[in-house]
Amino acid sequence: MQDPVSTIEEALLDPSLKDKVDLVLSKTDDGFYRVASADGSINFARQDSGDGSTEYSVVEQLGLNPLSDQATDTVLSMDEEKRMHASGASPASYPNAFESVAQFFDSPDASDVFVCRHPGFDPEGYSGQHGSLALVQSRALLIASGAGTHHGSRGTGTERTVDIAPTIASLLGLEADSRGKFLAKQDGRVLNHLLNGATASHVVVLLLDGCNSNLLWDVVAAGEAPALAGLIDQGSILRQGMTASLPTATLANHTAAITGLHPGRSGILHHTWLKRDTGQVPELLSFEEMFWASDHLAPGVETIFEVIERQRPGSFSTATFEYCDRGASLSSFAMVRGGTTEGLPELSEVRHVDHVGWTASAEYEFLSRVDHLSMVKKQTLQAWQQVDGNPLPTLSWCSFAVTDGAGHASGPHGELARQAIIDTDGRVGEIIAAVDRAGALDHTAFLVISDHGMEQTDNAVVGDWHGALTQTGIGYRDIGEGLIYID
Ligand SMILES: [Zn+2]
Repeated sequence: MQDPVSTIEEALLDPSLKDKVDLVLSKTDDGFYRVASADGSINFARQDSGDGSTEYSVVEQLGLNPLSDQATDTVLSMDEEKRMHASGASPASYPNAFESVAQFFDSPDASDVFVCRHPGFDPEGYSGQHGSLALVQSRALLIASGAGTHHGSRGTGTERTVDIAPTIASLLGLEADSRGKFLAKQDGRVLNHLLNGATASHVVVLLLDGCNSNLLWDVVAAGEAPALAGLIDQGSILRQGMTASLPTATLANHTAAITGLHPGRSGILHHTWLKRDTGQVPELLSFEEMFWASDHLAPGVETIFEVIERQRPGSFSTATFEYCDRGASLSSFAMVRGGTTEGLPELSEVRHVDHVGWTASAEYEFLSRVDHLSMVKKQTLQAWQQVDGNPLPTLSWCSFAVTDGAGHASGPHGELARQAIIDTDGRVGEIIAAVDRAGALDHTAFLVISDHGMEQTDNAVVGDWHGALTQTGIGYRDIGEGLIYID
């Protein structure tokens, strides 16, 4: 008799689900990682090579190897993305797929099966989606600029979201331990090729949630994002982007960037998953739970805010509208937890919005108010104005959400996603100006990142895989439309 995971895999790869299911991931009983598509499957092994590096090898293959193409130097423009989408050829490749799959199953809470959706399919019917291993969804934005960064550096294609925290530590001149690591636990490495060896007194991280890197490049090239263009002029943008960890989603990769740990080891596997020891199912995108998201960090994990405080006691750091805020001196989420937050600004107070966004989407309006608050009131701008008598921030981490909301609403090929970058550019410009007014511009590094990519869907693809799974007779829970736990 087939084991339940194989039965579920077979049901998901039925030709009737071809427009919804791209890859089915699992871990075998003998410790191999399994990746199956309609055209073939592999089992692969992960081995420590002894010198601190890790090797992956395919131990079994049937039909085509679904992960044979892991290129990052492809689909490097919005035009190419549109052509690929129109031809139905997506996904192009699966960057860093071996590591990304294996780390997911390191989590004690990993589902028995992970479904990578077909790029065209979003179960909620949005025009843009992410979450899978595929290139456009896993490609996150990375611009490094200002003090300590190298002008015009090119990426190597190996940069990952987990590399952000150690790179910030190195930029600030913090001390690594005897293992060469900055954080108590650390998967990431310092992106030395982006740095010029000088240290920065301050690092500003601007996280544009869900921002498609090709789209940002397109908007900058059209002259519609002058603040971001200025940062690129003073530094570099990695045209291949950096690769998000699986699942290529918000909570998993905000946390990866701040802890230097993959989601399978940080404790925050996704925005929703099953905590196997307690049976609890967190819902970290809900207003009831999001402000407490960092409570789910695994024991022994350190955030970059905590590393800074440990090495530079009394320094000041800000985390605005950031889920993984533990250890920051000033945090918008901590204000909510403590009941001291100011409400969202009135619509009339919000700067940098265009009428396209206002009229097209209530969520766009809401997230614009959120991003205005992240930028200004008691938050990033005021920290740089030192209104509370605080020292200038050593690390100022400012997350913006409208790029993600707009990306889902219109898809990255749509007008709203483009407008969100233009609006966010205005906020980025205000923050750069505040750093300048504080006299700190020459010794401040800026990292502009996103946590994952955003891919256009095909609105004609509707339905789900639950009927096919129910027919197997196997009891299961599907959490977050893709994490399948067998009863
Ligand atoms: Zn996100």
